[in-house]
Amino acid sequence: MFANFKNSVFAAAATIIALPAVAEEVNVYSYRQPELIKPLTDAFTAETGIKVNVAYLQKGMIERLKAEGERSPADVILTVDISRLAGVVNAGFTQAVESETLNANVPAQYRDPDGHWFGLTTRARIIYASKDRVADGEVTTYEDLADPKWNGRICTRSGTHAYNVALTSAVLEHNGAEATGAWLEGVKANLARKPQGNDRAQVKAIWAGECDISVGNTYYMGKMLADEEQKAWADSVNVIFPTFENGGTHVNVSGVAMVKSAPNKDAALKMMEFLTSPEAQEIYAKANYEYPIAAGTEADPLVQGWGSFEADDVNLMTLAANRDAALKLIETVDFDG
Ligand code: FE
Repeated sequence: MFANFKNSVFAAAATIIALPAVAEEVNVYSYRQPELIKPLTDAFTAETGIKVNVAYLQKGMIERLKAEGERSPADVILTVDISRLAGVVNAGFTQAVESETLNANVPAQYRDPDGHWFGLTTRARIIYASKDRVADGEVTTYEDLADPKWNGRICTRSGTHAYNVALTSAVLEHNGAEATGAWLEGVKANLARKPQGNDRAQVKAIWAGECDISVGNTYYMGKMLADEEQKAWADSVNVIFPTFENGGTHVNVSGVAMVKSAPNKDAALKMMEFLTSPEAQEIYAKANYEYPIAAGTEADPLVQGWGSFEADDVNLMTLAANRDAALKLIETVDFDG
């Protein structure tokens, strides 16, 4: 994939020398999958005439940017999770972007005050609960998960996965280190099995009767419902939006940032503004069953049908700042062990 991308960049460079009136281009490094990004880049190109080259990466974005240095072709990066966005920012590979459009489209809590990253969509980390074995109102808070009444009834993916580290970072912010350590011990003691698999594998385990509740991101409900085999897993659970005892429901973001050395800065800015527009937000959110964040946008009716929630107000940068301390607590209790 990257070989093609590189070739197209070189080809474009050759064209620029021969033909100064060449169309604008923008180069994107994306941790998000082609099926999510393609409809957006197509719409952007149709609207602006700007060609978009996307390198889809599985990992190693920071290492790649570092290796390429000032000569990196990358203009824009797309990723999920505040810790990954903050990672690229803290490594010094982004630049501040000043844009009235971006600031108007993206609510303040979902962007960097200095303009180094902008959120595009949110997802909540929620509880999937067996329709048969968990009564309405039996679990309402994240703190509840440590209650001994759940002994042997909880399934989760690894505690060190970015999604669970971000959740633990929020627990840490709300309740402090000591309470968070105790919470992790309590949740671990309630596990039906060692942490394993992804978020959907936990819902499968509920369906199979191995556990009664699991923690997972909202959009997986949509993905399971759209999958012939997994639909039965989704149908076996209710979606519950827990809150912190002194807060709201934990959310994380997908987001965008401009690379510090962006060779196509104007086109990059146009693309970022397009991605935050209500039109693009709804395409993007719908494609992955997420929540758009631009004013005046709404989630897909299917997603809205899972219920409404109040997003927790812990600042996303605080979550990123708490990441290392949260991970240390998770490792100290040997959560996956
Ligand atoms: Fe995911």
